[in-house]
Amino acid sequence: MSNYHIKHLEEYFQVYRKSVRNPESFWEEIAEEHFVWRKRWDKVLDWDFTKPEIKWFEGAKLNITENCIDRHLHIRGDKTAILFEPNDPNENAQHITYNQLHARVSQFANVLKSKGIQKGDRVVIYLPMIPELAISVLACARIGAIHSVVFAGFSATALATRINDCEAKMVLTSDGSYRGSKTIDLKGIVDEALINCPGVEKVLVAKRINSDIHMESGRDEWLMPLLDDASDECEPEIMDAEDPLFILYTSGSTGKPKGMMHTTAGYMVYTAFTFKNVFQYRENDVYWCTADIGWITGHSYIVYGPLANGATTVMFEGVPSYPDFGRFWEIVEKHKITQFYTAPTAIRALAKENLDFVSNRNLSSLKVLGTVGEPINEEAWHWYNDHVGEKKCPIVDTWWQTETGGILISPIPFSTPTKPTYATLPMPGIQPALMDENGNEIFGNQVDGRLCIKFPWPSIARTIWGNHQRYKDTYFSAYENSYFTGDGALRDEVGYYRITGRVDDVIIVSGHNLGTAPIEDAINEHPAVAESAIVGFPHDIKGNALYGYVTLKETGENRDRDNLRKEINQQIADKIGPIAKLDKIQFTVGLPKTRSGKIMRRILRKIASKETSNLGDTSTLLNPEVVQKIMDEAL
Ligand code: ATP
Ligand code: MG
Repeated sequence: MSNYHIKHLEEYFQVYRKSVRNPESFWEEIAEEHFVWRKRWDKVLDWDFTKPEIKWFEGAKLNITENCIDRHLHIRGDKTAILFEPNDPNENAQHITYNQLHARVSQFANVLKSKGIQKGDRVVIYLPMIPELAISVLACARIGAIHSVVFAGFSATALATRINDCEAKMVLTSDGSYRGSKTIDLKGIVDEALINCPGVEKVLVAKRINSDIHMESGRDEWLMPLLDDASDECEPEIMDAEDPLFILYTSGSTGKPKGMMHTTAGYMVYTAFTFKNVFQYRENDVYWCTADIGWITGHSYIVYGPLANGATTVMFEGVPSYPDFGRFWEIVEKHKITQFYTAPTAIRALAKENLDFVSNRNLSSLKVLGTVGEPINEEAWHWYNDHVGEKKCPIVDTWWQTETGGILISPIPFSTPTKPTYATLPMPGIQPALMDENGNEIFGNQVDGRLCIKFPWPSIARTIWGNHQRYKDTYFSAYENSYFTGDGALRDEVGYYRITGRVDDVIIVSGHNLGTAPIEDAINEHPAVAESAIVGFPHDIKGNALYGYVTLKETGENRDRDNLRKEINQQIADKIGPIAKLDKIQFTVGLPKTRSGKIMRRILRKIASKETSNLGDTSTLLNPEVVQKIMDEAL
């Protein structure tokens, strides 16, 4: 039995049981058989959640890029590693083979070295979704520099905060970026950020939009001539298993972003294993994850996981709405995509548009669909299943976090029967637990509680960069000997998990704990509703009452608002119970979101409670104008 690739449900259960009975030998076997090591480990796992300290494959030596690139060259050197689809559909796609990737990563790595970057130095990457982004990530890993990718939609202030937090010496950027019909002056944003970043010595600039930009002499250099002159051979730096690979900041949905530090060997083993299984990847598949590499999803499931499996991974520069709302489906048809992985926010946005955008395309190449980032509501799930997957493609609702490095709970397609809104079962090696408020584990099925993980897995983040105390306080202090996820979940009668929302967002109404996801799910079922978010606000009798923010589909725009309110509440009463009815419903043009597309309920909570003098950390807020509008129209 190959533990590495699970093909049916019984096999999943067998593998799972084995993985929790003896996690060390389970992961050791996978590490041994599927990767190249310069030196074998002395010990598989060493852990102590009280410190907390976690080490996987200690003593091993490796380079992750050797596993993601070099070892594929003799068997699939001419296979496409990265398939780049530009913003403009009229510009040609680029097929970068494994051989070419090897050469380009080596050249880039040599440039970094020639500019003084050494093992352990931090390099901030602020690039759009162009090949140089993936290549520079790998180039850092090649020489042992720690990359910290900052999503190229962040402001100068947010960029500066991250550069300073990880004390980066170098920033990689481009003259600008294309985003739909717009261009963005990335270099201008970097210049503004660097006014407040005295530690940055060098800025290397890729050319993308050919704009006329300011180059600071002594600091800024164009990448192109440097790359052209560099050798296309670069010996990989031999790293320890626990050497840092990257720092990545969380989305900031619940507060100030945390700089999660991930290390090398465990991260590689876990992302490769989960990629193979969750997407049931096969040799000739063309896999597409629409996330940006600026998020953990892009790190683990555009770059490292796919490349470690020798896959073809698509990088898309553009947006789902340009030149029209059919762009995703046009790309699926054009490149015969086999696995498609996106976020619920994108599905909800596309489901609002004319169905012709989807139905006019041939999507028959698709085998597996995925979602990540937020709970997916039932209506969006069905739309995805009916119109994109044409009921033939299992949907993997993958639950995980920046902190977890890889997917922890998800169906395995063609093995695990799916169930809308359920992330279903834990990956091998993952031991979830539901806890009550007093720190006790809740056993049995048909229960809900706070989601914890009781045993370390290889890709868990090892610390928050520069703030180990915050790491300990946030994840390991609430429950003894458990990693606390911050999310609430329920376990159904067969043991499937459903994420019910953030624990911070749980609302206690008349003594009942209400998670946000099931109620929003019920609201979104209403045919006129596009999206919704609910929060609590203080109420004299109930303690808290529910406040709903609702955006409408175009077809709902001219409906009478009071009737809509009644219908929405009726729907909630029918699906959940009268206890969950909303006291206030505000119709709005949009919801505040993080730049990674998640609803920021903490801001809505402040508005509902009329505490708007301090909205908290808004550095990752995508749409401040919507927040202003919601405040102006608050009930
Ligand atoms: P911050 O930690 O800064 O508040 P964040 O939690 O949004 O930000 P991420 O690490 O990007 O940062 O997101 C992880 C969170 O996203 C999870 O804790 C969970 O709340 C949510 N999430 C991710 N995938 C799913 C999913 N499939 N179903 C439900 N929720 C999900
Ligand atoms: Mg989080």
